[in-house]
Amino acid sequence: MDSTFCLIDDKHVLLHRILWISELPHFCGKDGCVFEGRYEVRLDQHESLFASRDERDDCLKSLRKWRSDSGRGDWA
Ligand SMILES: [Zn+2]
Repeated sequence: MDSTFCLIDDKHVLLHRILWISELPHFCGKDGCVFEGRYEVRLDQHESLFASRDERDDCLKSLRKWRSDSGRGDWA
C-alpha cells in the first residue's frame, strides 16, 4: 500500500493535504445532496471530499502510518 496517498472518491489524495476527517457521516437535509451518509475529508485550499466509510477508515490508517513513519508520533 502506498503510504503517501489515500484514495477518496476515486481520487488519490496526498496525505499531507488532509486537515481533518469527519467522525460522523454527512447530513445537511438538502434535497438531492449526493454526499449524505459519506464522510467529509477537509483538504487545504478550502476543498472538501466525501469518502465512503471504508475509504475514511483506510485514510485514518494511512495517516497514522505516515505520521509514525515520518517520526511525528501518533496522530489523533
Ligand atoms: Zn449535503
